[in-house]
Amino acid sequence: MKTIGLIGGMSWESSLLYYRLINQGVQQRLGGLHSAELLMHSVDFAPIEQLQHCGDWDGASKILIDAARRLEAGGADFFLIGTNTMHQVAPAVTAAVDIPLLHIADATAQRLLGNEVRRVGLLGTAFTMELDFYRERIEHHGIEVVVPDLHDRQMVHDIIYQELCLGKIDDDSREVYLAIIDRLRAQHIDGVILGCTEIGLLLDSRHTDIPLYDTTEIHAAQAVDFAFQS
Ligand code: GLU
Repeated sequence: MKTIGLIGGMSWESSLLYYRLINQGVQQRLGGLHSAELLMHSVDFAPIEQLQHCGDWDGASKILIDAARRLEAGGADFFLIGTNTMHQVAPAVTAAVDIPLLHIADATAQRLLGNEVRRVGLLGTAFTMELDFYRERIEHHGIEVVVPDLHDRQMVHDIIYQELCLGKIDDDSREVYLAIIDRLRAQHIDGVILGCTEIGLLLDSRHTDIPLYDTTEIHAAQAVDFAFQS
C-alpha cells in the first residue's frame, strides 16, 4: 500500500470526510483492523480564503507548495489537494515536488465517462464554476459542462463559504441548491458534479433523483485505488 498525502484544511470539514472515506476504502479492501497509510498537512484556511478572494493565486500557491513539500519529505508517495477550488494552483504545486498529484477534475471526469455522462451541471465556488482551470479540464475529456447563471452561482458560492465550510447545514440552503439543480436540469444534463468538497454535507442522492457526482467521494476512492496500484 502506498502512503497517501493529503493537503487538507480547505475546509477541515471536508478533510474529515476525506479521512473517513480513505480509511473506509482501505478497510473494505483489506478487512479487519486495516486502515490507510496517510499523511495530512492541514492548512489554516482563513488566509487562503482571503488570498482567493483578492485574486492572489501566487500567494495561495506558496502555501500549498510548502504543504506539498512537507508531505513529500514525510514520505508520501503521491498527494491530493482536498479541495476543487485550489486546483487553480495545481500546476505550480505539481512543478514544485517530484511526487504525483491525483487531480480531482481528472478523477471526476473518469467517473463521468464510466457512467457515460456527456453533459453535466457543475456546482462549486465561483472560482471553480467561472475560471478555466476546472471546466476545461473536464471538457478536455469530451464532457460538456453547464454552470448556473450569475445569480445562482453567487448563491452557491455564498452558501459554501458562509455555511458549509463552517459546518453549518441548513435545510433552506438545501432547497436553494435543489432549485438550482432543477434549473440546470432544464438544460438537458445527465448529472451534476458536486464540485466543492463540502457540498456532500448538504446534499446527496436521497434529495434528488438526478445522478450526483460527489468530488470528495470520487477523489478519495481514486486515492485508495491508486494506493493499491503497483
Ligand atoms: N472545499 C471547497 C472546494 O472544493 C471550497 C473551499 C476552497 O475554497 O478551497 O472548492
